Amino acid sequence: MKDVIIVGGGLAGLVNAIVLARAGLQVVLIEKKQYPFHKVCGEYISNEVLPFFHSLGIFPEQLGASAINRLQVSSPSGNNVLNMPLDLGGFGISRYTLDHHLYQIAVKAGVTFILGKTADNIDFKTHFQVQLSDGTQLESNLVIGAFGKRSKLDKQLNRDFINKRSPYVGVKYHIQTVFPRDLIALHNFQDGYCGVCAIEEGKYNLCYLTSRDNIKRYGSIEEMEKETLYKNPFMQAIRQNARFLYEKPEVINEISFSPKKAVENHILMSGDTAGLITPLCGNGMAMAIHSAKILSGLIILYFKEQWTKEKLEMLYQQQWKQTFATRLWVGRQTQRLFGSEWLSSMAVRILKTVKPAARLLVKHTHGEVF
Ligand SMILES: Cc1cc2nc3c(=O)[nH]c(=O)nc-3n(C[C@H](O)[C@H](O)[C@H](O)COP(=O)(O)OP(=O)(O)OC[C@H]3O[C@@H](n4cnc5c(N)ncnc54)[C@H](O)[C@@H]3O)c2cc1C
Repeated sequence: MKDVIIVGGGLAGLVNAIVLARAGLQVVLIEKKQYPFHKVCGEYISNEVLPFFHSLGIFPEQLGASAINRLQVSSPSGNNVLNMPLDLGGFGISRYTLDHHLYQIAVKAGVTFILGKTADNIDFKTHFQVQLSDGTQLESNLVIGAFGKRSKLDKQLNRDFINKRSPYVGVKYHIQTVFPRDLIALHNFQDGYCGVCAIEEGKYNLCYLTSRDNIKRYGSIEEMEKETLYKNPFMQAIRQNARFLYEKPEVINEISFSPKKAVENHILMSGDTAGLITPLCGNGMAMAIHSAKILSGLIILYFKEQWTKEKLEMLYQQQWKQTFATRLWVGRQTQRLFGSEWLSSMAVRILKTVKPAARLLVKHTHGEVF
């Protein structure tokens, strides 16, 4: 009987694991892959996480992260361009490096890892029973669901969003190119937008969100990129100087930004499992880390003060809503402005002219230092 089982070892799962194990709790983390591994993500993290990261002994600059303090946004034709400083700023680092680093810290903190297996079923009666893909059954007092945007477990739990199809597809490359290392660019194209930023070891992340229909229309990712993504002159310039570092891109489908619940069947959801912000607003990773900080803090109190599960669940849902609900809503509304040639051109033109509006938008989509 463990204190806490965590399903999923992305940023949310790993941060929860580190904090809880350091507080002396018995923690098991189940992750279906083996570290290190690549993930579809724009790999730009807002600096709001830095004080908390430092308190955990995580120093991204020592891993070679690039410091980013400028934003550029272009319309699909490239005719309208917004350039602005990022007040809070952020850093670029690959998930390959960052998640692996957190995994190593978690191992040192005493977390037990089960890697290369999935959690296929979670049942709650008086305590939790978690069934793994090899048939093993584990038991615990609490379960944290940190299994990301979409998992087989969402089906098992019959969560609302999983029964609706979502049109969004995410594609990621690592490249070498000629590009400023302190800039994050967001270039729009027909039916999508693409982020570009520097990560460690002189490399760059190129990651975009588009729709399934856009890829179908052109028959393949490659053809769609030629006909839409690289029609944006900024993207064309990046491609001309680029060396692509993978044979194939990382791709994920059915990305849903629909609202989710922070607690379901007594499972405490953290990170994307509780709600995914549109990447246009760029801070899903900071939110995953922040939600893990809130949740692990409450779990420590639950064990120390012998709270009931009801109290823990109620406080977590309250704090999650207070911290993230507005941000997710702004993200969903902002997303509507992009993708269409006309709307995104207009949005960039307005934001370029009305600088306070652009600043306000960036402020609302970034969180506060925590
Ligand atoms: C196209 C795109 C671009 C993005 N760009 C950015 C960006 O630039 N900046 C930013 O801050 N955010 C960005 N995000 C969002 C960011 O990637 C997520 O918010 C972040 O990864 C959330 O972390 P997580 O720990 O919640 O989930 P994840 O990192 O997805 O981790 C979930 C883990 O659970 C594991 N898992 C799933 N099911 C099971 C199971 N049944 N058993 C065991 N393990 C399981 C998975 O293998 C995975 O490792 C982007 C998202 C998309 C789609």
